[in-house]
Order: sequence, then C-alpha cells, then structure tokens
Amino acid sequence: MPRVLLLLPSTTYRGEAFLEAAGRLNVQVTVGSESGLTFPVHSVDAYLPLELRQPESASRTALEYAKRHRIDAVIGVDDATVVTAAAIGAALGLPHNPIASVSAAHNKFRMRELLCRHGVPVPRYTLFPLEADPASVAESVRYPCVVKPLALSASCGVIRANDPTECAAALCRVAGLLRRLGLTATDEGARHLLVEEFIPGAELAVEGLLTDGALTILALFDKPDPLEGPFFEETIYVTPSRQPAVVQTAITACVQRATAALGLHEGPVHAEVRVNESGVWVIEVAARSIGGRCSRILRFASGLSLEELLVRHALRLGLPSLERERQAAGVMMVPIPSAGVLREVRGQEEALAVPGIEEVNITAEPGQELVPLPEGTRYLGFLLARGDSPESVEAALREAHRRLQVEIEEVSPAPGLNRTRSSQAQVIRF
Ligand code: ADP
Repeated sequence: MPRVLLLLPSTTYRGEAFLEAAGRLNVQVTVGSESGLTFPVHSVDAYLPLELRQPESASRTALEYAKRHRIDAVIGVDDATVVTAAAIGAALGLPHNPIASVSAAHNKFRMRELLCRHGVPVPRYTLFPLEADPASVAESVRYPCVVKPLALSASCGVIRANDPTECAAALCRVAGLLRRLGLTATDEGARHLLVEEFIPGAELAVEGLLTDGALTILALFDKPDPLEGPFFEETIYVTPSRQPAVVQTAITACVQRATAALGLHEGPVHAEVRVNESGVWVIEVAARSIGGRCSRILRFASGLSLEELLVRHALRLGLPSLERERQAAGVMMVPIPSAGVLREVRGQEEALAVPGIEEVNITAEPGQELVPLPEGTRYLGFLLARGDSPESVEAALREAHRRLQVEIEEVSPAPGLNRTRSSQAQVIRF
C-alpha cells in the first residue's frame, strides 16, 4: 500500500478532506505536523513531528523517517506547508516543484518580478522597506493603489488606498500588523511591503492541476461580489464561470504562462485573476489547492473529490477524467461582520432549508475572538450550494446568508462595558 506524507499545520481546515481521500483510496498516511492533532486520530496511520516552517530541518527528519517507512509522495496542504513539501520531495528524490519556484509563488514581490520578467500582465508594483517614511512613500506612488505584505494570505493586510493620506495610514497599519505577528524578526519577507497599482475589473479564481508543466483547469470560479476595497473580503465563489468562452480561454492561457514563468510544473495551482478591457491580469498564483472548506463543492465526473485527484496525482496513480460534474456549485466564505467575541450564530437550520444549500458549516466556536479583515485571516464558516445554474447557486447562498444571525459581544477596554450586538450577517459589510 503506498504511503503519503501529509503536511498538516494544526490550524488548517484542509486535513479532514485529505485524510478522507486517502482513506477512500486505500493509501497509508503519515501526518507531519508541529503539534496538536486536530483531526480524528483513527484516520491517521502514523504521526511524525516536523518543523513545518523549517524546510531544511523538516527534510532531515523526513529523510530519517523514510529509512524506516517508505514514503511515496509528499503533500503540503496549504501556503504554510508547500515550500517544506517541495524541500522534502527533493530530499527524498520524489517528484516535486523546484523549491525556488514554490517559494517565489509564496512571496508576492518575487512572484511579481518573475511574472513581469516573462511578460505576464501584472499590476505595476514597488517594494518598500518597513521602516520607510510612510508620507514619502505615499507621495511617490500612483492612485488608487493596494498596500500588501509579501507573505501573508487570505487578504490579510491587503488594503486599497485612494490618496496619500489613506496610503500612509495603510502602510502604518500593515507594518503594525507584521510587527504584532512577530514576523519581522524571523521572516525576511516581513521586512518589506509592496505597493501596487489597483487593477479594476471582475475577479475570478482558478483551480488547476499541473502535470509535466501542462495546466488543466479543474474549476473557474466567478466572484460575484465586487472586490473594490478598502479590504478584500472573499465571499462567494460560483462555478462554472459566466464569463464568455473567449475570456475563459484567455484566463487559462494567462495562468499557464504564469505557472511557467514561476517554474511550477507539478501539482495543484490556485490563482486569482482580474479581467478588464485591457485583458487578464494575474493578481496571485499559489502552488496549492483551494483553501478552507471550499473544496467540498468540487466533485468530478469520475465521482472523485479534489483531494482524491490530488493524492492520486501525487502518487502517479493515473487520473480519470478531470472534468467537473455538470451541476453548478458555489461556496460562501461567511465574513466576520465585526470584531468581538462570538456568542451565537442563529438561523443555521433556516439557512440549510434554502433549496440548493448543501451545508451550513459554521467553523468559529462560541467564545472565540473574531477578528475582521484586514487583520483577521479566518471566516465565520462556509455555506455550500449546488444547483442547475450559477445564478440559482448564487441566489441560494445569498438567501442562506440572509437567514443567519450572528451575535457578537463587542469587547470593550473598560471592564463591565461589553455590549452584545446581534446582526443579520449580510447587513454589516466593511
Ligand atoms: P492574499 O494572498 O493575501 O489573498 P492577494 O495579493 O491575492 O493577497 O490579494 C488579496 C485580494 O486583494 C485579491 O484577491 C484582490 O481582490 C485584491 N487585490 C490585491 N492586489 C490587487 C491589485 N493590485 N488590484 C486590485 N485588487 C487587488
């Protein structure tokens, strides 16, 4: 029986789907993780403590382990683990993406440099050291612009600014976030910020699979909520895309060029692109599959899940059709409406009763502190829907969201002054 080394950070939502996939494929799994098993232990054959953010030390540990237990493939499930997965793949002589390519995809500046060098359309960008004077930086860039950290994800710290005052404020806010996260001491990428030209237009997400450098599109998602800033909260993804075929073809070609420019050639790709009258622009290409619980809406004509496809691909088991099922499908990443402590999410049964809604998955726990964007990285949960058309899926997601009522206790600095605020989830948008 083949064995996969699955790199799972303790905070990921991705573990369950990969473990289920391995179980269905009769594949043995060794979970490599830092600590704290947050998934059902019975589904794991073996556990290997690994420093997931230290590719060299993790590779040494994996190499020792592989002397006793044959490993046939290494899978990093998310941004935090894909570089280490590539390093372990290299150490064990398994098929892997070049480490430099995966880490470039993980660093927004290096990604821009490589894409630009290869003529892939990207926003104009400038790199600034964290200590640069915000007022001078703000005077030197064009507007509107987007301020962003190099190595965070899920739109954390990504802020649009329309003028120098907003830009200086955004620079201070993102620099403060990086310092509070303690990243500036350890992470070279956290000592700079990127300021980019804001690209207007429709945004789409691309889920793809690379095999020997060739990109197959697994799903193209429209993002029907406008993403205009100042913060860029992901909400609804719906597939198939309603963009004309010619635009979809241009997106595929553009993402294929982007992956080649980065030097990625194997495994999953998740990209964000914007489309306007000038064409397709690459916002981001990541060498990983779609995040959170979103993959649950992807089912393939062969009956396989996304993770089954990825495990089969990693093990070179041969792939059946990569075509998605015929139905339209969509997910809403339920935004956090305001900061505070979650008390309750009411209306979940009512949301589930909306025709087309398959799952109402509230992942935030009562008592949990909720941090909205741009500082937060997590959602309140996920709504999943399927239907005859993208329009009906989108409508079902919006109706289900309307039925949720989120009760959040605002945390006041003065003792005894906490206030509970009950809101219909869709009413508050920031
Ligand atoms: P992350 O990796 O944290 O998701 P991204 O660079 O992908 O960071 O940015 C997050 C979101 O911010 C994008 O999906 C997009 O909506 C928006 N965004 C980022 N950069 C730009 C840009 N240059 N122009 C327009 N929108 C942008």
